[in-house]
Amino acid sequence: MTRKLVAGNWKMHGTKADLSQIAALATAHPAPRIDILICPPATLLAQAAGLAADSAVMIGAQDCHAAASGAHTGDISAPMLADAGAGAVILGHSERREHHHENNELVAEKARAAHAAGLIAVICLGETLAQREAAQTLEVIAAQLHASVPDGSTATNTVIAYEPVWAIGTGLTPTDAQIAEVHGLIRSLLAERLGGAAATALRLLYGGSVKPANAAGIFAIADVDGALVGGASLKAEDFSPIIMTL
Ligand code: PGA
Repeated sequence: MTRKLVAGNWKMHGTKADLSQIAALATAHPAPRIDILICPPATLLAQAAGLAADSAVMIGAQDCHAAASGAHTGDISAPMLADAGAGAVILGHSERREHHHENNELVAEKARAAHAAGLIAVICLGETLAQREAAQTLEVIAAQLHASVPDGSTATNTVIAYEPVWAIGTGLTPTDAQIAEVHGLIRSLLAERLGGAAATALRLLYGGSVKPANAAGIFAIADVDGALVGGASLKAEDFSPIIMTL
């Protein structure tokens, strides 16, 4: 059976003082039953990867450029992330789709770059509140999945995170049935694209206001293989109980 995955997205939080949280996680979970990924800001990647080496904690990044190198001031390429010690990269997070105008095609290009660099691409999908209220959720997710997930994606180099935009950082979460419906759709569309075995093995994370108090309920939902956690991943004391729930 595929191992479940709990991933932490620190977003634009954290300085060197916060590396102690990664050390604490590594110590607290020497042999976890699940995979653990922490994605700190790029400034901390190399140090975090050094700290987490020889531990069960994998370090990842929050974005990459689609090119391997070039005249792209301020950007960081997937091979650079791998060189810094990252094993994964979050792509297409709604904050990047919204604030950096990233569309599905760009996310797919970035995912291709991540795969080529040997990184796991954690590709994020999710509807806005307006789209949910207009009953467009399933078509939005299907379109995002179709165009953001490149050919060559496999259960080992790709993870999909379903993150309703309206659930991120708001304390709101969809109902169990709403999460199950979207994850079931993603799984069946992946089966058409990649075949049944790959679709079953590819991890589908739920993200959006996951906390210690609601994690067990969310992990019990069909087709949920873990979580992508923002706010509650910043402190080991909040993230650890979520890891322990799986
Ligand atoms: P949240 O963020 O857990 O703070 O809601 C999740 C995310 O944006 O990945």
